[in-house]
Amino acid sequence: MSVYKAEYIWMDGTKPSPLMRSKTKIIPLGEEPGIWGFDGSSTNQAPGKASDCVLKPVCIVPDPIRGGDDKLVLCEVYLTDMTPHPTNTRAPLREVAEKYASFDSWFGLEQEYTLMKFDGTPLGFPTNGYPAPQGPYYCGVGGSQIFGRDLVEAHLEACLEAGLKIAGINAEVMPGQWEFQVGPCGPLEVSDHLILARWLLCRIAEHYDCDATFDPKPARGDWNGAGCHTNFSTNEMRESYDAIIAACEALSKDPMKHVKAYGHGIEDRLTGHHETQKWDTFSYGVSDRGASVRIPWQVKIDGKGYIEDRRPNANCDPYLVTRLIVDTVCSDRA
Ligand code: ADP
Ligand code: MN
Ligand code: MN
Ligand code: MN
Repeated sequence: MSVYKAEYIWMDGTKPSPLMRSKTKIIPLGEEPGIWGFDGSSTNQAPGKASDCVLKPVCIVPDPIRGGDDKLVLCEVYLTDMTPHPTNTRAPLREVAEKYASFDSWFGLEQEYTLMKFDGTPLGFPTNGYPAPQGPYYCGVGGSQIFGRDLVEAHLEACLEAGLKIAGINAEVMPGQWEFQVGPCGPLEVSDHLILARWLLCRIAEHYDCDATFDPKPARGDWNGAGCHTNFSTNEMRESYDAIIAACEALSKDPMKHVKAYGHGIEDRLTGHHETQKWDTFSYGVSDRGASVRIPWQVKIDGKGYIEDRRPNANCDPYLVTRLIVDTVCSDRA
C-alpha cells in the first residue's frame, strides 16, 4: 500500500478538564503529516457559525496500535488566522521554555491513574462495599492485590514502541490504581510524551472492558487520591544544594498561583492526609511525603539533584504545570 494512517491527537475545550480527541487521516507514503482541521463546535472550542479549528502537528511518533508505517500525530490547536487557540496551553509554554532555555530544565512526571469498571467502581472493588484497606496493593503481587496488570503491561509496551520517554511503572496504593513515569527531559518533550502516553492508555483500555481515569479522587473514603508528582531540576540544581533550596523558596512565594493551575478538584485531593500537604499550606522538606515539595533523601546526601512538587493532580495539564515551575524557579534566579 502506498499510504499510511496518521492519528491526529489534540486537547479539546471541555471544562473543567479538557478531554483528548483524535481522528485519522490517510496520507501518501513519503509525505509528512500536514496542517489539518476539525469541527470546534463539537469539542467546546468554537461556536457553530465559525466552527473551523486548525490542527498543527508538533510531535510525531510511530503508532504502536496500528503498527507498520502508521503514526500518532500530536497537535497544537490554532484559530483560522493561525494564532494559537485559547485552549492551546502548549504555545505559551514554548515561549517560557525558550526564554529560560539556558537553565536546561528537566522534568520527570509520575502519572497516577485508576482503572474503572463501567459501573463506576475501581477495578478490584466489589460492586457493593469496599475491598480490604490500603496496605498490600502498592507495588504488590498476587491476584487479590493486583488488578489490570495485562492492560498496564500492554500500555508500557506500546509507549516503548512509540519511542516515548517512559521511565517505569508501578502499582499504586489503591486497588486498580497505577502509575507510569515519563522523563526526565525538557518541559515540551515531557508534556508531549505524557499526553501521548495518556492517549495510548485510554485507547488500549478500550480492549479491556474498562476506563482509565485521571480523576484525582476516584474513590471517597480512606483511599489515596491520584496525583502527577512533578520532579524538576535545572542545571544549577543538578550541581548545587543551594540551588535546590532556592527553588523551594521560589515556589513558596505564591503557592496559590500554582495550586489553582494544578488540576480541577485539587482541594479534594490535597487534604493534608494520604501523603499530601493541605492545598492552602506550603511546605518543603527532605523525604517528607506530607510536604508540598519533597527533597529526595539521595539529593540531600549528594548535595545536588532535583525536587518533587507533589501537588499536581493526575488530571493536570502538563503544559501549564511545567510552564509555571520553569517560570517561577528560573525568573527568581535570572
Ligand atoms: P517516587 O519515589 O516519588 O515514587 P519515581 O521513581 O516514581 O519517584 O519518579 C521519580 C522521577 O524523577 C522519575 O520519573 C525520574 O525520571 C525523575 N528524575 C530523576 N532525576 C531527575 C532530575 N535530575 N530532574 C528531573 N526529574 C528527575
Ligand atoms: Mn512514583
Ligand atoms: Mn505514586
Ligand atoms: Mn512521587
